[in-house]
Amino acid sequence: MPETIDSDLVILGGGPGGYAAAFLAADKGMKVTLIDAGPKPGGTCLYVGCIPSKALLHAAKLVTDARDAKHAGIHFGEPRIDLDAVRGWENKVVEGLGKNLLELCKRRKVEYVSARGSFVDGNTLELSDGSRRRFRHCIVATGSVPIIPPPLRLESPRVMDSTGALKLEDVPARLLVVGGGYIGLELGYVYAALGSKVTVVELTDGLLPGVDRELVTPLFKRLSGMFDKIYLKTKVAKLEEAGKGIKAVLEGEEVEEKEPTFDRVLVAVGRRPASKGFGLENTKVELDEKGFIKVDAQRRTTEPAIYAIGDVAGEPMLAHKASHEGKVAVEAIAGDRGAAFDFRAIPAVVFTDPEIAWCGLTEGEAKRAGREVKTARFPWGASGRAATLGRTEGLTKLIVDPESDVVLGVGIVGTDAGELIGEAVLAVEMGATARDLSLTIHPHPTLTETVGEAAESLHGLATHLYRPRK
Ligand code: FAD
Ligand code: NAD
Repeated sequence: MPETIDSDLVILGGGPGGYAAAFLAADKGMKVTLIDAGPKPGGTCLYVGCIPSKALLHAAKLVTDARDAKHAGIHFGEPRIDLDAVRGWENKVVEGLGKNLLELCKRRKVEYVSARGSFVDGNTLELSDGSRRRFRHCIVATGSVPIIPPPLRLESPRVMDSTGALKLEDVPARLLVVGGGYIGLELGYVYAALGSKVTVVELTDGLLPGVDRELVTPLFKRLSGMFDKIYLKTKVAKLEEAGKGIKAVLEGEEVEEKEPTFDRVLVAVGRRPASKGFGLENTKVELDEKGFIKVDAQRRTTEPAIYAIGDVAGEPMLAHKASHEGKVAVEAIAGDRGAAFDFRAIPAVVFTDPEIAWCGLTEGEAKRAGREVKTARFPWGASGRAATLGRTEGLTKLIVDPESDVVLGVGIVGTDAGELIGEAVLAVEMGATARDLSLTIHPHPTLTETVGEAAESLHGLATHLYRPRK
């Protein structure tokens, strides 16, 4: 008989959802076991997602910033890229953070178990080390995995998902990126900056479908200069080995060469919840039609002892959403009846250059819902700080309730938009009005002024925007 250990709370999956939940539960005095297939906590986000991709994006931006420095009269030569050292630096960042998380487990007395877990029933997990865990409560935080549609399935080391692309084995001369979403654009940007000729193929009629077109336009312009080709409304019908490359059969009106060959292919057409293959069918947990675990506001599943958070529990598939849900689930388990995943704004950031960041209601969502809104725009051409950075292509946009003046949503495109969105998230979450933002003194010269001035412009008074009196 396998050994059976009892725990208050077992968390399956050690990503940003799972470890945030484990740490809060331990801080609240629960006996916590965190189980993950990997040797250390961190999950997709730390090892093959957010962190390595942002480390590489930083390296890429150093290259593009050096190229752009000529606008300020500074000329650098072509960069010499030591790929082993870039990879080494990426790994060092990741390893350091992983070590910290393991240390935080130890200090908080969270038992970390490196094993795969599978449900035997609604109160028991069996681990790949042969042991069993009986739990009072369990939080499932197993994340998501890449989708590889049948025409793009080719067993070849040249065809990669994001995990393969982050290994940065080489800088392929010609890289095909299938999917113009978050991963395609972020990693396409990295490889283009490092020297690849990048072709992006996107199925829909625009990059980053669902994101405000006004925000995407400046990014599209810059990427059009960096990438070799961007094909919209185009399908990759087939991938096949062709000598030392991969031939892609492209179907789309804009396509010039129908069967180009690439040195590598990155498939980034979305992710699906990791909800199969670990015994959920032995419990009362139910999945929706997309495979996400069905949860209520407290993140409780249809099996009373089991909660679910993060990518496996629904969109958006973002690390900060996973962590927040993890904390809600722990509060609920600890007995807080008021705990609920109740938010006005989950921020999203695309970490290209320029970055795109948004939160709360978008103009498109308002239109689709037939909701009347006022919009305010502050083009960065009028920002002193943007001028000093040589980056005036940005835009800050507010979506405001016309009656109450409450800020419902904010969208920003421009350098460092991901940092700027913090103020906007707080404004939306706190129910701030546009007048609150305009009365807030923003430091000069900073890009934060674009938020204040966008708000001022709603009332016709933005200092750096002239509007003739009506
Ligand atoms: P995950 O981080 O996916 O962790 C789940 C863990 O569970 C994994 O370690 C997995 O091995 C483990 N697991 C699964 N099944 C079992 C089992 N049966 N037994 C044991 N362990 C199991 N989000 C952002 O917010 N910002 C970003 O910049 C960003 N960049 C990204 C870049 C890339 C390339 C990718 C792929 C994703 C990115 N994301 C980003 C998304 C982010 O990584 C996810 O939203 C986040 O990791 C979800 O966290 P999670 O806790 O739900 O699951
Ligand atoms: P995505 O949903 O962001 O983008 C997928 C893109 O592929 C879409 O534009 C879609 O229209 C397109 N597409 C779908 N099928 C296609 C096909 N057959 N051919 C061509 N294009 C096709 O998905 P992703 O880029 O794989 O990223 C997955 C998820 O990971 C994201 O949705 C996001 O939640 C998360 N992520 C977040 C960040 C971040 O926060 N900065 C970064 C990377 C990933």
